[in-house]
Amino acid sequence: MPYAITPPTLPSVAVLGQTNRFPVHRIYCVGRNYQDHAVEMGHSGREAPFFFMKPADAVVSAQAHEVVAMPYPTLTQSLHHEVELVVAIGTGGSNISVDAAEQHIFGYAVGLDMTRRDLQNELKKLGRPWCIAKGFDHSAPIGPITPAGQIDGIANASISLQVNGEERQTGSIAHMIWNVAETIAQISQAWALQPGDLIFTGTPAGVGAVVRGDLLCATVSGLQTLRVRLE
Ligand code: MN
Repeated sequence: MPYAITPPTLPSVAVLGQTNRFPVHRIYCVGRNYQDHAVEMGHSGREAPFFFMKPADAVVSAQAHEVVAMPYPTLTQSLHHEVELVVAIGTGGSNISVDAAEQHIFGYAVGLDMTRRDLQNELKKLGRPWCIAKGFDHSAPIGPITPAGQIDGIANASISLQVNGEERQTGSIAHMIWNVAETIAQISQAWALQPGDLIFTGTPAGVGAVVRGDLLCATVSGLQTLRVRLE
């Protein structure tokens, strides 16, 4: 199809064991999906989780065993890490039932929902949207996607983040308030899920600031580790 300008490149993520890449359509994120993180952010942990989005081209895709570079963003003095299990959608749908949700999953990856926390705190006080705090360029580093058929026991996997070798976040996927199937069902009531959608499923407690030069090592047991160097 002829375009009036050169179309932008489709954002994509590496897939473990394949040269084929996963094309990214949208990035959905779940807010406060672990009680201990909701509490550390000053909430009761008893409210329902909620959603926000990042632009598809916020992904920074790491190959297996690669240390990927992320530029330290402008406009913040407090860039926070949030390690998250990412679900990659292979088959779309609306009003997907919890029981049918698994059939829509292509695979899983480890991601970082990088956050300009100082701006987010300001925006919360003003009642303004979070876009500039959450949806900035390079705000979604992600490791290679492991196809769902190659993983067992993701529902009980451990999740953790180390900064320069020091443990900052630890938790279990089992502690999510909305599990993966419930999250897919909820999102598909609000939007039609499409092949290529990514879902960042929320972070456990222990979020904190990182600075230029830091090495972030994000893990979910059974998935490829994501390593990010802040530049
Ligand atoms: Mn998050």
